[in-house]
Amino acid sequence: MSEYEEYSICKDAQLTLKKAHEDGVETAWDRLKKQEPQCGYCELGVSCRICVMGPCRIDPFGEGPQRGVCGADADIIVARNLARMIASGAASHSDHGRDLLEVLHKIGHDKAPGYTIKDPDKLRRIAKEYGVDPANLDDKELAKRLAEAMMEDYGMKKDRITFINRVPKQRVELWDKFRVTPRGVDRETSETMHRTHMGVDNNYVSILLHAVRNSLSDGYGGSMIGTELSDIIFGTPKPGMSEVNLGVLKEDHVNILVHGHSPIVSEMIGLAVEDKGMLQLAKEKGAKGINLAGLCCTGNELMMRKKIPMAGNHLMTELTMVTGAVEAIIVDYQCIMPSLGQVAQCYHTKLYSTSDKAKFPNMEHVEFTPENAREQAFRIVREATENFSRRDRSKVYIPVTPVKNMTGFSVEAIVEALGGSLDPLIDAIKAGKIKGAVGVVGCNNPKIKQDSGHVGLIKGLIANDILVLTTGCVNVAAGKAGLQVPEAKELAGPGLREICGLLNIPPSLHVGSCVDNSRIVAIACALANAIGVDIDKLPLAAAAPEWYSEKAATIAFYAMASGIFTVLGVMPPILGSKNVTQLATSGLNDVFGACFAVEPDPVKAAGLITNHIMEKRKALGLPL
Ligand code: SF4
Ligand code: SF4
Repeated sequence: MSEYEEYSICKDAQLTLKKAHEDGVETAWDRLKKQEPQCGYCELGVSCRICVMGPCRIDPFGEGPQRGVCGADADIIVARNLARMIASGAASHSDHGRDLLEVLHKIGHDKAPGYTIKDPDKLRRIAKEYGVDPANLDDKELAKRLAEAMMEDYGMKKDRITFINRVPKQRVELWDKFRVTPRGVDRETSETMHRTHMGVDNNYVSILLHAVRNSLSDGYGGSMIGTELSDIIFGTPKPGMSEVNLGVLKEDHVNILVHGHSPIVSEMIGLAVEDKGMLQLAKEKGAKGINLAGLCCTGNELMMRKKIPMAGNHLMTELTMVTGAVEAIIVDYQCIMPSLGQVAQCYHTKLYSTSDKAKFPNMEHVEFTPENAREQAFRIVREATENFSRRDRSKVYIPVTPVKNMTGFSVEAIVEALGGSLDPLIDAIKAGKIKGAVGVVGCNNPKIKQDSGHVGLIKGLIANDILVLTTGCVNVAAGKAGLQVPEAKELAGPGLREICGLLNIPPSLHVGSCVDNSRIVAIACALANAIGVDIDKLPLAAAAPEWYSEKAATIAFYAMASGIFTVLGVMPPILGSKNVTQLATSGLNDVFGACFAVEPDPVKAAGLITNHIMEKRKALGLPL
């Protein structure tokens, strides 16, 4: 096995990594090696630098200090660190949601040229959920009123956020009992930071219960608002075919990549690359056209709605430039490695940051606002197209051809594919043709062979007749492995194969970006409501086999608190506290009817999840 086969299961990654080393480019894998051995205290979660009486560390072997300068023990330190992780994840998703809210508000005030309401029906449906009567209001007025109603969810005007109304009654009663029902999106994050300040909450259980509330303010607040508003402004996704891997780059075209999470910037870049004047410019520069492709979750947003291909997931972002065929990468925020500028120095790629809150070394900053987005997008696409003349054709290396990937499974699209209601899915689950469903979500992490966790787990699950829903970077992994095309039904068990054949869908469905995990919990709520049970009674599970991000920790927490058993492929930094570890891996079951397991081996993880689903089926009296 070559060195590169140890890093990734993907041919495009292996081959471009080899070229990266030949070109003298350093990647995340190289930097991980230089970091090893990583700090054991931090891995266990027992280091604290919350105040400047510290930094403090707890000796995990019991011989050295057992309390920080303030007196905090391992339980308090681990719980505080974990809660802060969750607050950061919730803040990231929710701030992304807020940006969409601002665009909606500005559409209502005619201050966002180029942005429109692409799904007016959904605007009306969501307005009703927010108590705004759409009768006699045009789209703009309604956009303004809905935006204002949603803004209240961010503050503390209400006693609970609005989308809690989607959650089964039994679950909300449980949340109320344990006082974890989220009150305001920003309020819960702010309270986490307050509670974890030195000398505030020093009970590990109550710190963690508030972390749960904070995560729910993301899943049913910031993320859910982000998803629904993206659908309203950019269109609710419908199923269709696209492509994945580095082969989506075109040797004879100007290649432009968009990277990050928000569709606000990429929507305008998408408009600019189709402009006739730009295409003419591309031809004058010797290119056949302009090719737009995505990375990470901005890529997922574009793929879901416009079927624009994805060049890669998290660990592919540096490697795209090694092809020598990328004229520009335009980033918004989250998961963008600060190393990109360093890699770009070795090639001709131009990098642009676009958000006031996300600036990077060796990257030109071209700030986008709802008012100027269209203009700025045209400026960047023009510069990228002119940059085609600087491409060194002798260095271009696109090592693979693209693989097909079916995409676009929004909740609405799934319901439509089922003929207008979730009943056929419920019937298939009751009959045992589909044993259950699992959300496989999250990132790449160089500590795990790239994409091996995702692909191994999905293959194991579908073979056991378990339907998979993917979001985030998993989509690219599953797509490259050929798991997200209708033909992949051949890898599924007989029941799932039959259903996929009838509906002409893959056994692993792409439901969107990281904020779109809110689609998965919305489906779980709808299933539970339709059957008349709480979510924890359903044969469902979640998994994040290769997670790295604080956002993934938040997602895992709101999945668990929704009653969904969640398996992580990478250990969170909690082992330094026996009490926190016990709570996370079993104690939470007594509270939420779900807890966490950590299992890096995807085959074993598939086994754990299958057993869990079978237990839930048994409890419901369904055939095994
Ligand atoms: S909060 Fe306590 S444990 Fe943390 S750094 Fe300050 S003194 Fe040390
Ligand atoms: S799945 Fe993880 S790495 Fe990928 S875009 Fe989302 S948070 Fe970032």
